[in-house]
Amino acid sequence: MSGKTNKKLSTNLIHNGDGQLCHKLAGMSSVPETFPIYLTSVFAFDDVPPVDAIYEHKSDAYIYSRMANPNSDAVAEILSAAEGEPSSKKNDVGALVFSSGMAAIITSILSAVKSGDHIVASSVLYGGVYDYLANEVPRFGVSVTFVDFLKDDFTHAVKPETKLVYTETISNPLMEVPDIAAISKEAHKRGLLFFVDNTFATPAVARPLTLGADASLYSTTKYLSGHSDITGGALTANSELVAKIKRFQTLYGAMPSPLDCWLLARSLRTLDLRMKKHSKNALRVAEFLEAHPKVEKVFYPGLKSSPSHKTAAAQFADGRFGGMLSVNIKGGVKEASKLIKEMNMISFVPSLAGTATTVSYPVKTSHRAYSAEALKAAGIAQGQLRFSVGLEDADDIIADISRALDKI
Ligand code: PLP
Repeated sequence: MSGKTNKKLSTNLIHNGDGQLCHKLAGMSSVPETFPIYLTSVFAFDDVPPVDAIYEHKSDAYIYSRMANPNSDAVAEILSAAEGEPSSKKNDVGALVFSSGMAAIITSILSAVKSGDHIVASSVLYGGVYDYLANEVPRFGVSVTFVDFLKDDFTHAVKPETKLVYTETISNPLMEVPDIAAISKEAHKRGLLFFVDNTFATPAVARPLTLGADASLYSTTKYLSGHSDITGGALTANSELVAKIKRFQTLYGAMPSPLDCWLLARSLRTLDLRMKKHSKNALRVAEFLEAHPKVEKVFYPGLKSSPSHKTAAAQFADGRFGGMLSVNIKGGVKEASKLIKEMNMISFVPSLAGTATTVSYPVKTSHRAYSAEALKAAGIAQGQLRFSVGLEDADDIIADISRALDKI
């Protein structure tokens, strides 16, 4: 509606400067250099047939932001380009973005199983996903067997009712790296789906789809956004699987906000640069810690001493091993808590993957859902600390840890 109207004030305030301007903008000879934020929950139509066309999949115009929004599609376009071709080459890679990593993971799992089915999952996982698999899916008649993908032959856990195999590219918090290509092969031989949480690695370190996995899942709260300012999730998979999971996403309503999508798209521009420096700094810190007399054990796949080093080197890009490492300090729980208190620059932050180096305490935070027995069986020590190595100068990170270690 134009500014010159004979309508009353309240009507004029509502019916000017609105979405109709988009028609005018669409016809202009210039476009915004960056993609705008489409902060709208719904889209306006002049007629009914265009709405039918969307529901009948004859048009990919937008209708309602819980179903799709230009900003969620912008992120999906970047992520699907970043993830590469699935090894099957049957379909193009597609992507979906979610309101959290848990939303992406749970929606994907629910799309793959029904009551009576069985899942084989890694015994070392982000604690929230472990909690969901150990304590929540059984409520819906789905059973789970946890296996050690590095030590056990997971195929022994496969049953006639198994539908899904689930693991992490770099496990939280032990930084173990399973052989994704080998697991994919065995899973597919048995007609099983194989989902991989690629949060710690990101497509700048590993691309599970190119190694044969059916879906790469992400907490975009972590490296993909990389600045500790949004909560989000994502997945990439072949477009057939994406279409299947999309239906569940729309039903369960796990969509991110357009603003969070915009921030995520902006962060993805620098993902490659950030992962290069996170990886370089983490290797320096891991080497420093490994040589320190007060350190019992360092968990980092970039270290030659890591049991995962060979597998990681073979499937990771450009000699990168990511920015996450864990450490067992001599003296266990008591000394670990002291170390947290003594560090100045490095804060205790129960998340990861921001620009700043941070430390977390898995048993007290992310892995609280594990019982003492499950922690022991998985090899997660009570006093284990997990560092998210940031983008500062590596000398300053090491100096802060070194000074704190001297004081414990
Ligand atoms: N996957 C991994 C490896 C994680 O570390 C986390 C959270 O820490 C999640 C998934 C869950 O992500 P979100 O907190 O965004 O729901």
